[in-house]
Amino acid sequence: MARKIIAGNWKMNLNLAQGAALVKASDDYLNANPAKHIDVIVAPPAHQLVQTVKLSTNTKLSVVAQNMCAHENGAYTGEISASMLVDAGVELVIVGHSERREIFGEDDALLEAKLHKALEYDLYPIFCVGESLEQRQAGIHFKHIEKQLEAGLKNFNADQIPHIILAYEPIWAIGTGETASPEQAQEMHAFIRKFLTGKFSATVADETSILYGGSVKPSNAKDLFSQPDIDGGLIGGASIQIDSFLELIKIGE
Ligand code: 13P
Repeated sequence: MARKIIAGNWKMNLNLAQGAALVKASDDYLNANPAKHIDVIVAPPAHQLVQTVKLSTNTKLSVVAQNMCAHENGAYTGEISASMLVDAGVELVIVGHSERREIFGEDDALLEAKLHKALEYDLYPIFCVGESLEQRQAGIHFKHIEKQLEAGLKNFNADQIPHIILAYEPIWAIGTGETASPEQAQEMHAFIRKFLTGKFSATVADETSILYGGSVKPSNAKDLFSQPDIDGGLIGGASIQIDSFLELIKIGE
């Protein structure tokens, strides 16, 4: 069975004090209410990674970096390497978020290299895929997701795939308040699982977590998370408010 995960992507938000308050509240909550069914993950901006790791005492709470360089250490100004993330105590890394793809021009080849580098260092990547509104309206969303998955995963073997968490984040639903309906999300998640079955095996498909992201909030999370192929959420806006993030953890359980 795939792990169920509630992941908060803080993006470029929260200062040190705000980040500490949020992770401490999550950690305290999990210590008081031990999670049986879910893992909780938070993705702070880079300057907060060490602090966030230190404040995450609960074994169900892990820290994910929002990005990582595909290269080893060296002359790459402004970048952070896989070994540095491991050194900081980080356990996971987001790869291929649509904001990295769209705003920072990260292409399929670079993302594939990042995925390989992450696994080389035993970091669990959260590999994001998602279509634009135009692609959905043109009816090519399944094709597009398949293309992104194929490009990212083509050189992995079946044993490696369950170490990669997938996240379906339709671009039109990110930060827009417009969520994919539970049916739309489930349809794409089932498609992704079928892709994994065809390319790897039914066991791999069953063991790989597929998260949904795009305007998840306490009011719609229950309907989304109860879909058979949705293994939790990658949450932006609603993950940076203590109350709503704790509520989402509760719903995920
Ligand atoms: P929102 O939840 O703010 O729509 O962001 C989703 C997302 O991009 C998470 O990575």
